[in-house]
Amino acid sequence: MDRLRLRLRYTAYILLSFSFFSYLFYMLGGFNKEFVVSAKNAAFSSIDDTTQGGDTQTYLDIDGESIVLNCELGKAGQWPFCEIAINFTNIARGIDLSTYHSVGIDVDYFSPVDDERIRVYLRNYDPSYSSENDPISLKFNAIEYAPGAGNGLLVIPMDSFQVLSWWIAEYAIPIEKAGPEFSQIQTIEIATGSFVKPTNYTIRLNKLVFYGQWISESTLLRINMMLWISAAVVFLYFERRRLNFQLQQVVAKADFLKDANKNLYQKSMKFEELAFTDNLTGTQNRHAVDSWLSEILDFSRLNCHSFSIIYIDIDHFKRINDQFGHHCGDEVLKEFGRVLNLRARKTDVVVRWGGEEFIIFCPATNLRSAQEFAEQLRNIVEHYHWSLGTTITCSLGVAEYRIDESVDEFISRADSALYLAKEQGRNRVEISPVS
Ligand code: GH3
Ligand code: MG
Ligand code: MG
Repeated sequence: MDRLRLRLRYTAYILLSFSFFSYLFYMLGGFNKEFVVSAKNAAFSSIDDTTQGGDTQTYLDIDGESIVLNCELGKAGQWPFCEIAINFTNIARGIDLSTYHSVGIDVDYFSPVDDERIRVYLRNYDPSYSSENDPISLKFNAIEYAPGAGNGLLVIPMDSFQVLSWWIAEYAIPIEKAGPEFSQIQTIEIATGSFVKPTNYTIRLNKLVFYGQWISESTLLRINMMLWISAAVVFLYFERRRLNFQLQQVVAKADFLKDANKNLYQKSMKFEELAFTDNLTGTQNRHAVDSWLSEILDFSRLNCHSFSIIYIDIDHFKRINDQFGHHCGDEVLKEFGRVLNLRARKTDVVVRWGGEEFIIFCPATNLRSAQEFAEQLRNIVEHYHWSLGTTITCSLGVAEYRIDESVDEFISRADSALYLAKEQGRNRVEISPVS
């Protein structure tokens, strides 16, 4: 296995572990956060209707961990009330509670009527509607409920809060700002309910806590998804590079093999040419016509075509060697081969059969035509101006193929005709009768 795959495997293990443990951590509440409102981070005070012409009297006490507000509600005010006000003004312009999903409130409410309700306000600052000198301009995110007494902590979702409609109307809040907002909570108020009587009320705040998560479930899933996608993209990138590299190697190898093949082919062609060519005269040798000869004879037999050969032997060639030397003899053989090739017809095949003997194979030629052609050649050779400056003659034996004979028999008959020509005095043409 290559390094990339090994790395991929490790990355997958790491990602799987991360996904699993981060989700497990989430499920076990590892990402939970709490914000407890206490004397350490907030200032507690009381507010009542005396600022609006009322005569309510309030007494705020601290009893251990609890804040206790005792009120003697008066009659003078139009809307008598009292409340515990919790201020975060020391934390810039308020505290951001928008990342918390619920609030836990432990309040004991002592009122003359059972199940009387209290109001809880989360007052949000926003420069678009709030002004420094007007405390009412902080948005009223409100709930109203009956806490009773001794019921412990009640957890309320943040989306239970609603913005008071009179406040929206009075401050002409545009619709996009009319919803609940918790991004800069400056004050939290826990107030008496809407229909109070002029008597004694006690609000005992035991605990106020906000619950949230450092990372929400959807954010966690998004982070995991991004990690997996990034890993996949990186892997695909490197995998592509690796495959490209391999492809290049394969192409280079194929090119190399192609070249090698071409060279071998060219070499074998060369060898074939060398094997079938006579070194000295450059004409074909007898190996060159071996297979061709049996094929052309089969073809001639099947198609009733005539086929003739002219067996040629230079007269007294030994004397040329003796007189001018072997090298000059070679030159004569070369020249002789050239002359035969030059005179041969397109379909004829000239072959150096051995020594100073040549055979011209003449397809589609009967004995008579071959004899005439042989006579022409004899004449040409006799009157040709050889480089050596001497006269050269040759004897020729002609034979036409007989359907029932073998190649050897056929050539042997031409050889016999040649022998006859030698016997009859050389420089002449003799034929082997057709039958
Ligand atoms: P004939 O008219 O009866 O054919 O007489 P000839 O001398 O041509 O025939 P013979 O068979 O006696 O001699 C042929 C000579 O051809 C002998 C040999 O040395 C010569 N010879 C054969 N091959 C070559 C060759 O490649 N080069 C040279 N220079 N001589 C060759
Ligand atoms: Mg000979
Ligand atoms: Mg000879």
